[in-house]
Amino acid sequence: MPMFKTCTACKETFIAESPFIKLCPICNAKSQTTPAERAQRKTRITPDRLMLDVRQADAAGKSYGRWRYEETERRRKEEEEERRKFEERQKRREQMKAAKENEHGESET
Ligand SMILES: [Zn+2]
Repeated sequence: MPMFKTCTACKETFIAESPFIKLCPICNAKSQTTPAERAQRKTRITPDRLMLDVRQADAAGKSYGRWRYEETERRRKEEEEERRKFEERQKRREQMKAAKENEHGESET
C-alpha cells in the first residue's frame, strides 16, 4: 500500500510503494550507479591537466619529459612566428604610409 515517506538522502516527502523504500525515486536512480562508476564519471568530466598531457605524450609515443620539451618548443616557435608576422605587417604599414606621404607631397608641389 502506497504511503508517504521522507527520503533519507534529500529529506523530500515522496510516495513509497512499500515501507522498505528509504529513498525517493530521484535519489534511488542516483544510487543505482556504484561508487566506482561515479568516480570514473567524475574523472571523465574533470580530467587532470597533467593526466591530459601525459596521455597526449603517450599517444605520440614519447616520454612525458620529451613531449613536454617539444610542446614548449613548438609553442615558443609559434609565438615567434606570430611576432615576426606582426612586425612585418607593422613595417609594411609604415612603408605604405611613407609612400602615401611622398605621393601627397609630390602632388602638392
Ligand atoms: Zn531523495
